[in-house]
Amino acid sequence: MNKQLKVLKKWLTEQKIDVAFINEPNTIAYFSGYESDPHERILALAIFAVGEPFLFTPELEKEDALKSEWPYAVYGYLDNEDPWSLIAIHLAAHRNNFSNIAIEKNFLTVGRFEKLQFFFPAVSFPDITPKIQAMKLIKTSDEINKMMEAGKWADKAFEIGFNAIKEGVSEEEIVAEIEYRLKKEGIKEMSFETMVLTGVNAASPHGTPGKRPVKLNEFVLFDLGVVYNGYTSDATRTIAFGEPSKQAKEIYATVLKAYNAALIAVKPGITAGELDKIARDIITDAGYGQYFTHRLGHGLGSSVHEFPSIMQDSTFIIQEGMCFSIEPGIYLPGVAGVRIEDCIVVTKDGCEVFTHTPNEYTSI
Ligand code: MN
Ligand code: MN
Repeated sequence: MNKQLKVLKKWLTEQKIDVAFINEPNTIAYFSGYESDPHERILALAIFAVGEPFLFTPELEKEDALKSEWPYAVYGYLDNEDPWSLIAIHLAAHRNNFSNIAIEKNFLTVGRFEKLQFFFPAVSFPDITPKIQAMKLIKTSDEINKMMEAGKWADKAFEIGFNAIKEGVSEEEIVAEIEYRLKKEGIKEMSFETMVLTGVNAASPHGTPGKRPVKLNEFVLFDLGVVYNGYTSDATRTIAFGEPSKQAKEIYATVLKAYNAALIAVKPGITAGELDKIARDIITDAGYGQYFTHRLGHGLGSSVHEFPSIMQDSTFIIQEGMCFSIEPGIYLPGVAGVRIEDCIVVTKDGCEVFTHTPNEYTSI
């Protein structure tokens, strides 16, 4: 039994919860190793305080689930069957009397919840979300290794992207080149839609790549990541094509200084709010505070945004094994947008970075 299952079973026993009914595909992969996007169909994982867990999948996925690393029962359902009556039968077969079923209140839809309630009218439904979030916070060495690999692929993506930069080529074309080359090498999925933004377009932190071409003496911002064995990477580089304006370069130098100061400060015991403040103070002192319009970073793992949130005033204490991004940015409308981002794992006395593409000012 994997470590995640053991930890959850122990917790269920301590909390006197009979079963956890898990419905979110990412979380199912976290506990079972079985990765799937079931679209509108039902994919569920039942983990009991006592006894073996089971997976419940659409019939068309059952063979894949059986061939996966999941060693326990897999039950299927056909499109013309009612999945909820089958789920109820399988739950009841594993345990004949429930007093409670833990559910993911931030994910299970009301419609699905009502189905469960229909079959188990007398049970209570505690929320398992906080426990799952707490578990996902501290990564195992196996998870960290996967994130290291995902980071290497992000470095590869930067290399492809930088090589694609030339005058006149559009943001969309560079995105296409990066994703085409990665897909040819076996990467199935990016962590999110690859972002390549040129010049003033980069002054929108969540801008959309379009037809705008690379122009001489502007920055090009790349924000990207891949999913590798179910784990994500997320990194940003902003590089100069030619010689951007003096102010654009000053913005770059400020962001880099903020990034470095925050990175050096990461260690167990510091708070998320302190980390954010270290970076934000540097940007504010340089006169750009109002143009750093987002938090310093976010946790990531099997999904690209999870806990913790590295944000102002947070008293959340950083611990060894947590993984999150450090991504200060300055977005000055009409002038330039610069962000530098890497994701890290907190170690005993500092941190280790997942992506290694140099982040010093670079002009090509
Ligand atoms: Mn990020
Ligand atoms: Mn990013």
